[in-house]
Amino acid sequence: MARFSKRVGREVLEGHPRLPEWIAKERVKLGDLNGMKKGLRDSHLHTVCEEARCPNRTHCFTQGTATFLLMGEVCTRACGFCSIQSGRPRALDPREPGETAERVAALNLRFAVLTSVNRDDLPDGGAAHFADTILAIRHRNPGVAVEVLVPDFMGDLEAVARVVAAGPAVFNHNTETVPSLYAEVRPAGRFERSLRVLAHAKQLGTALYGPGFRTKSGLMLGLGETEAELLATLEALVGAGVDILTLGQYLRPTRHQLPVRRYVPPEEFAALGAKAKALGFGTVYAGPLVRSSFNAHEVAGLEGVSIA
Ligand code: SF4
Repeated sequence: MARFSKRVGREVLEGHPRLPEWIAKERVKLGDLNGMKKGLRDSHLHTVCEEARCPNRTHCFTQGTATFLLMGEVCTRACGFCSIQSGRPRALDPREPGETAERVAALNLRFAVLTSVNRDDLPDGGAAHFADTILAIRHRNPGVAVEVLVPDFMGDLEAVARVVAAGPAVFNHNTETVPSLYAEVRPAGRFERSLRVLAHAKQLGTALYGPGFRTKSGLMLGLGETEAELLATLEALVGAGVDILTLGQYLRPTRHQLPVRRYVPPEEFAALGAKAKALGFGTVYAGPLVRSSFNAHEVAGLEGVSIA
């Protein structure tokens, strides 16, 4: 049975682990949010912030940052943790790259984050559309850095190369959870395939742009993973050359997604962050409300461990 909790501004489920105090967030300042939302709707743009009900949209929107969701809001996959609609996507909108570049200019962003649903219906998984959007942003907004949070392109390394060649500052691909939970959490994903995508991007990006080219990946905790599994997964990511790691708490968007198995306390995130740093990541951003592109522009410039 679900009920709406005024305290946390979202649905909570009876009989499931109660939402701990450290996750309770200030209420969304509607004024700021509506201004940002209106701007995005006027330009036919979607944000993953809204579609995935991200708990940080207050913070990001009031700072004039957002993660742009490219290629529509219907995904060809159905991950167990995600509330984005699954089904048959519409054809790509050729205006989207240019409109996104204009939106970045209008928001006066220094750092833009692009992500997308999975488009397994497209021959290149949408890689060319990503590349066109990066190039449009960089052309329209010289000096703006772009982070891309991409799907696995079904392991197509030419698609990965197409995106890297367009010059993103950060190439991000989430592994989301530990391999043993993939069947439930990310049934259409493959851990080894994600590792190959990240390793290939790092190799190509370093060859093209030098050691400053950074790759990034993120995991959600609280889905039933053990610490031993988690550390083995992090070791594999370091082995694939991943520079930046994000660790955050999984939060159930609606009753249709997987239940939260455990709320990980902030001190445990701090301890895991330190262990991850010791494994060799350049930057670790860990905390209950950390999301893959949360404070992305700050994280991209950081060294060491940051606990949020
Ligand atoms: S691939 Fe991404 S957008 Fe699609 S269901 Fe999974 S998490 Fe959601």
